[in-house]
Amino acid sequence: MTLTAALAAVDPAELVALTRDLIRLPSVIRPGDPTATEARVAEHVERWLAKEGFEVAVQQVAPGRPNILATLDGEPGLRTLLLEGHTDVVTEGDPRAWSHPPFGADLVEGRIYGRGAADMKGGLAAAMVAAAAIKRSGARFQGRLVVGALVDEEGDMLGVRHLCGTPEGRALTAAIICEPEQNELCLEQRGVVWARVTARGRMAHGAMPEAGANPIAALGALLRETPALERQLRRLCARSRHLRPPTVTPTIVQAPVLGAPQANVIPGTAQATLDIRLTPGPDEGAVRAEIDAACRRAMAAVPGVTLEWQPANGYRLATRVEPSEALVQAMVAAVGQATGRRPRFGGVPGSTDGTILRMELGIPIVTCGPGARLIPHQVDEYVEVQELVEAARIYVASSLNYLAGNEP
Ligand SMILES: [Zn+2]
Repeated sequence: MTLTAALAAVDPAELVALTRDLIRLPSVIRPGDPTATEARVAEHVERWLAKEGFEVAVQQVAPGRPNILATLDGEPGLRTLLLEGHTDVVTEGDPRAWSHPPFGADLVEGRIYGRGAADMKGGLAAAMVAAAAIKRSGARFQGRLVVGALVDEEGDMLGVRHLCGTPEGRALTAAIICEPEQNELCLEQRGVVWARVTARGRMAHGAMPEAGANPIAALGALLRETPALERQLRRLCARSRHLRPPTVTPTIVQAPVLGAPQANVIPGTAQATLDIRLTPGPDEGAVRAEIDAACRRAMAAVPGVTLEWQPANGYRLATRVEPSEALVQAMVAAVGQATGRRPRFGGVPGSTDGTILRMELGIPIVTCGPGARLIPHQVDEYVEVQELVEAARIYVASSLNYLAGNEP
């Protein structure tokens, strides 16, 4: 009864309108431009949720960059579920490359177009409308439902890191990450480490290389080591049905690190970044040991140069939750209730805010949201309206199923 009424309270027209409104408020972060933040979207989210009667908290993460958290309390209970979205979007690139204006939110043949349509203003709107449907229908549940619209997912994940340090974060017992995964239930996410390797040698004249030690040669040796590093990480990581195996991809090579490059000068330092993707298995120490070993082998090949590396953005290890988790069971049942079909399972190719929630708080997370998996960050990004509505219904049923239980 409760569930039927709550599902019926999901209003597709309202969901489409809200998604379009959010897309029309650009939230590309442009460093150096203090007005180019999530502020306007966050304000819209805050007002919309407050108007619906939610208790809304604003966490200032950085100037103009607030997390918005809306809560709805049921009867006393031990569970607190977060429906998680982020308010920032990546750059639209060259707007002339788009056939629909990137912030126009065109609605054409059942698709909404625009930067963030899938990643992830659509998913955020679906979470908001789902929570509102539960509230309006008066559905009964135990514990607390939270909608979180966090900042900076596409950057350093400052929003979720901030949340994890607050009482609101520590009270969470599970989270649904509403990222675009074509409404598949993703119990696994790949991890990432950006290994920024600095080579330090000795500056010298290019005509007299014997007088110096060339850090670029050491980076060359390191690049030759990457296939071996990749093989080693694949050995350590679990094989996964839903995730591609680990990869090691050089993405930045830079020399000199400071100052102007000059054709006849061997620079003192050089830097390379390896984009390392992981599947579940090894812990931080095991990953570190493999990267250390690759650096040592490269160093041995070029005497006089030292290699040091840092994880440029910390360790975001791969995550996995067990199918036996209460959250997973709640969502498996919910897909049937909300859509009449059996759940499809998938895996998240990159890391999400859920990675940080899983690593910092240890809570179960499932990533599931509207939008084709490959569409984020592309031109002519879109979300299917039908998938959007389905997501909102899945969130309603998942929330009520999970919050019907009362074990922590
Ligand atoms: Zn995203």
